[in-house]
Amino acid sequence: MTHRLTLQGIAPLTHDTYHLIFNKPEDFDFEPGQAAELTLDEKGWRDEDRPFTMTSLPQDNTLDFVIKSYPDHGGVTAQIPEMEPGYQVFLDGPFGAIKDYGVGTFIAGGAGVTPFIAILKKQAAAGEHGSHLIFANDTKADIILKGLWDSLKGLETTFVVNEDDPNMRSGEVDKALLSDVVTDLDQPFYICGPGKMVDSVRDVLTEMGVKKDNIITEDGW
Ligand SMILES: Cc1cc2nc3c(=O)[nH]c(=O)nc-3n(C[C@H](O)[C@H](O)[C@H](O)COP(=O)(O)OP(=O)(O)OC[C@H]3O[C@@H](n4cnc5c(N)ncnc54)[C@H](O)[C@@H]3O)c2cc1C
Repeated sequence: MTHRLTLQGIAPLTHDTYHLIFNKPEDFDFEPGQAAELTLDEKGWRDEDRPFTMTSLPQDNTLDFVIKSYPDHGGVTAQIPEMEPGYQVFLDGPFGAIKDYGVGTFIAGGAGVTPFIAILKKQAAAGEHGSHLIFANDTKADIILKGLWDSLKGLETTFVVNEDDPNMRSGEVDKALLSDVVTDLDQPFYICGPGKMVDSVRDVLTEMGVKKDNIITEDGW
């Protein structure tokens, strides 16, 4: 079923990522981690649906998204910085394989952290402590919602950037890093980010002995 949403608020989170707040249709339900197709209700864009993940919780009064804008694609996300309250979009969904399968290790690259926002907020609210977020970005300025990750109760964090910082890891999420920071291999491993990163992290985890059924990913990022 298609729903029409009206933008209620928009605010930058980083230099290229925005928090968008829409009204929540009464009959729209989803699980934390799931996504929906959004289509801009504007001439020339009504055939261009794109998948984005809900970052609010199902019981919240609003439907929120965190969207990284790619001005150089000239596509849907290039329009985000121009949007103002009152802007309308269509929503179709929900769908998606990434859901809450319990406390585990969450490995994200860039905007690939979006499915983990609602899941980790839900776990913290339910007192389910012990998850570990390994979050890779190019620079510190690219880290989405750093304040949230630092404040969520019971969440361990490892930030990985391509620059020197005494409080972060530098380089890639590779075997050396994963062997160093992962202690329990018998738990859910959630991976989301650019395709190449997801593939290489999945291969490393499998090599380390993580069972296939314990690796949760979403196709198409
Ligand atoms: C299930 C799922 C959930 C997702 N959730 C989120 C989310 O919550 N937040 C988020 O930020 N992202 C999310 N994404 C990623 C998001 O869907 C894409 O970033 C988005 O579709 C890009 O749309 P676009 O129209 O701006 O650009 P695109 O559709 O990527 O590209 C538009 C045009 O530009 C061309 N193009 C592609 N790459 C380049 C390039 N490098 N340089 C120049 N031109 C290029 C394409 O060929 C195309 O013609 C999700 C993806 C999936 C699969």
